[in-house]
Amino acid sequence: RMASPALLMRVVASAYSVAEKAATIVRNVMAAGDLGIVDKTGANDLQTKADRLVQISICASLAQKFPKVTIIGEEELSTDEVTEELIEDGHCEEILKKTCPAQYAGIKEEELVIWVDPLDGTKEYTEGLLDHVTVLIGIAYGGKAIAGVINQPYYNYEAGAGAVLGRTIWGVLGIGAFGFQLTEAPAGKHIIVTTRSHNSTLVNDCISALNPDSVIRVGGAGNKIIQLIEGKASAYVFASPGCKKWDTCAPEAILHAVGGKL
Ligand code: AMP
Ligand code: MG
Ligand code: MG
Repeated sequence: RMASPALLMRVVASAYSVAEKAATIVRNVMAAGDLGIVDKTGANDLQTKADRLVQISICASLAQKFPKVTIIGEEELSTDEVTEELIEDGHCEEILKKTCPAQYAGIKEEELVIWVDPLDGTKEYTEGLLDHVTVLIGIAYGGKAIAGVINQPYYNYEAGAGAVLGRTIWGVLGIGAFGFQLTEAPAGKHIIVTTRSHNSTLVNDCISALNPDSVIRVGGAGNKIIQLIEGKASAYVFASPGCKKWDTCAPEAILHAVGGKL
């Protein structure tokens, strides 16, 4: 009889399916047309109905399966709004077939922290820049990002009716990252990717000082890490406070899983 898969692999496999459900919610809220926008700290720090529903869906679904894991989501919400249709119980079989790295094989539930950004790039979501949006589920152990799932609900949305909409990228340190084509940035070119909606003089002065060949301005921390792993940019530069651990945990794990550095 096979031993059951390591906890870490079961968490990542579940997070994969939970992130796909989240993507469906993100698309459904937009299609329904009522975003329910709330300003949190100001006009560049927004929350929509999608941020709220997705956080409830992700946190409740993972808590149901892994009750002793610490789960921290971006949004401050009242907790009694969970409805059955928001719960995702599935998992990705492909992930369970991978061998857990030995150093993570004995991890217990109470040793894991899951950082949830239910919708990264909310400002861009409200502006119709839909491919900037990601759902981020990051997994930390001993204070380090070790695994993550990034779902891009609107990947391919400008490619026409025949294209499959959305994708899920996942990674674990020591295994690698999957769901995309790892690509080097153009040799000899310094292409910086940075914020489009949280600019400041310092942010722009730092980029100028690096004398890049070109600058890509897009929303979302998850989306900017995707620009790096797909070879669109050589570095993500944002010399400012603002990004939180729910923004960085999943992207950091996936970047590190393919040999990058955050
Ligand atoms: P951006 O690159 O501007 O899309 O930011 C990446 C992530 O960090 C998003 O989740 C933003 O909400 C967050 N972020 C960055 N800077 C700020 C800021 N000044 N205030 C609030 N959130 C920020
Ligand atoms: Mg975010
Ligand atoms: Mg967010």
